[in-house]
Amino acid sequence: MNIVVIGAGAMGSLFGGFLSKSGEHRVLLVDTWEEHVRVLNREGLAVRLESRTERIPVVASLPADIEMKADLVIVFTKSQNTNEALEASKVVFKNDTLALTLQNGLGNAERLNEYLPMERIIVGTTTYPCDLVEPGVIQSEGQGESKILSADGIRRDEADRVAALLSEAGLQCRVVEDIFTTIWEKVAFNCVMNPLCGVTRLPVGGIGDVEEGYGLALKILEEVISVANRKGIKADLQRVRSTVDMAFAEHKSHQPSMLQDVLAGRQTEISAINGAVVKEAKKLGMDIPVTEVMADLMMVVQKNYMKKQI
Ligand code: NAD
Repeated sequence: MNIVVIGAGAMGSLFGGFLSKSGEHRVLLVDTWEEHVRVLNREGLAVRLESRTERIPVVASLPADIEMKADLVIVFTKSQNTNEALEASKVVFKNDTLALTLQNGLGNAERLNEYLPMERIIVGTTTYPCDLVEPGVIQSEGQGESKILSADGIRRDEADRVAALLSEAGLQCRVVEDIFTTIWEKVAFNCVMNPLCGVTRLPVGGIGDVEEGYGLALKILEEVISVANRKGIKADLQRVRSTVDMAFAEHKSHQPSMLQDVLAGRQTEISAINGAVVKEAKKLGMDIPVTEVMADLMMVVQKNYMKKQI
């Protein structure tokens, strides 16, 4: 199979690297970061796992240099870059291309739907953790699993085939029929952790250990789950709350990706996370004030990166 990974940062390199290593497929990693692309082609991908570092030969390219049609596209840009990334790499699409997105947030399938029909888009979530340490080097500690289904909600052979090819490459993946519950529960978790840590510049423990921080977390959770439930999605408040409680208890020093982005002065995925839930709520005539305030505050933070303050 010809596989093109669009956005070969931490996650794209992890998935693209494992698929390349399997030797079963022709895999191309596409990214706009020239130095990263150069190092990947010259030295291969270095993957730091818990106890060892593996070097995997990979083929990488800038979008303008793509010379491959894809049977499968895997999108792993940050959500705010997806539109421009798909447009710049659209030569990869042919009549029967399948696409997989495991990006966080809402609206990922809809962005792909500009190029492919919904029945050829596969959506899901992944719990594989990964960081990009420097050009050509990623670090992934701990196991993970991906859950997927066709974006139109129907169980199709294509999703089973993609789950099998990822699992065979060493990236555990399974098809789940209630994927929208899984996606919304992950969105709810991210709506809590990401902006609360991003706006305050505190790691997870800085929020959960303070009564007011925990109170805000619970309000956001209740709001997001109520929107999902109104849409007919069976997201479960207690289930997500126990995941949030576990993170507050056991991952106190963790810096969620939005906090890392704030500290590095990068744009964040806030529009696809809290911002997208607020939009869904408004369509349903619902008010979710705490989630909305967090979305607005995060926008204030990122719109001020470049300005010199007093
Ligand atoms: P990342 O920032 O490490 O990688 C994104 C890559 O996209 C970068 O290398 C960037 O150069 C590239 N890019 C930007 N614009 C591009 C364009 N126009 N064309 C091609 N490439 C472009 O991000 P990540 O951590 O790998 O996350 C990717 C997605 O996966 C996000 O939605 C994130 O929320 C989700 N996710 C991440 C993790 C994790 O542990 N890192 C876990 C689960 C889900």
